[in-house]
Amino acid sequence: MPDTVDFLRLEGLQVHFPIKGGLFDLVLGRPASAVRAVDGIDLNVERGEIVALVGESGSGKTTLGRVITKLAQPTGGKLLFDGCDMTPERGSSALRPYRRRVQMIFQDAYQALNPRHTVFDIVAEPLQSLRLVDNATQLAERVSQALTAAGLNPPGDFFARFPHELSGGQRQRVVIAGALAVRPELIVADEPVSMLDVSIRAQILQVLVNLRDKHNMALLFITHDLPLAWLIADRIAVLYLGKLVEIGSADEITFNPRHPYTVALRNATPQIGANPARDELQAVQGEVPSAARVPKGCRFHPRCPLAFGRCREEEPPAIDVGPQHMSACWLAK
Ligand code: SF4
Repeated sequence: MPDTVDFLRLEGLQVHFPIKGGLFDLVLGRPASAVRAVDGIDLNVERGEIVALVGESGSGKTTLGRVITKLAQPTGGKLLFDGCDMTPERGSSALRPYRRRVQMIFQDAYQALNPRHTVFDIVAEPLQSLRLVDNATQLAERVSQALTAAGLNPPGDFFARFPHELSGGQRQRVVIAGALAVRPELIVADEPVSMLDVSIRAQILQVLVNLRDKHNMALLFITHDLPLAWLIADRIAVLYLGKLVEIGSADEITFNPRHPYTVALRNATPQIGANPARDELQAVQGEVPSAARVPKGCRFHPRCPLAFGRCREEEPPAIDVGPQHMSACWLAK
């Protein structure tokens, strides 16, 4: 028995959505298939750690975040939180302590906020539904604290405002305040700044980093933006078609990527100064394949001698390529 347990641990986590076959499949006896949105993820996050999940749309990042916050149910593998197996489906009352400890910040603040509710009601709602306050004074105090922590000052000025009366940055801060109000220990932030102006992004990122520093809160930061991940995260995990293809320290993954997909993501990223000629940027080739028909090998290394050989026969395991740096590519060694 290990003397320390991982704060959050995913073991072979899977989310497969079955696809109903048509008449032809029935006649031809084709086996039922499934969309493999998340396909055997092993990952751990420690207290106070910021881990970024990076990948294109359709790589399974959001589905994984929804499973961790128990908004979706895995079809296989294990979700362990602070030593407790959270995999089985539970009713809302049994989930109440977990919901207090694990919160999610959504990408689209417009959709996440009820337009008919004031800022006060929005931030107060989780405190009331999780029964974390005893009276109105406590409620007002906790709402004020959450708004202040999210950078909405003075908090009283925002109590009676409606979402449409706020700027994009302020709306995202209200979403963050709603998550913070319950004092979570882990936040899953799904592209929390991708819809904001560049000038506001840094402020929101700073709020999240401050929370980690002040409260030792862990953060799983979901993004498609590798430089942003490098800026905020301690470690970066790269997801491709539901699989974790590379993981390591933020510096290692950004400056010494060993999987061709991570290299492709990096080469497709504009960098001020470093890449002055626009044509030096390389777009990630081709469309993201369907998660229902995942091809063997990878499309990022067209001249890889193993793409039609070994990689088709045998999926590369996570290979150790440096201190706490793993890459699922036979060529990474
Ligand atoms: Fe891609 Fe596999 Fe070749 Fe690595 S070994 S570059 S994963 S085809």
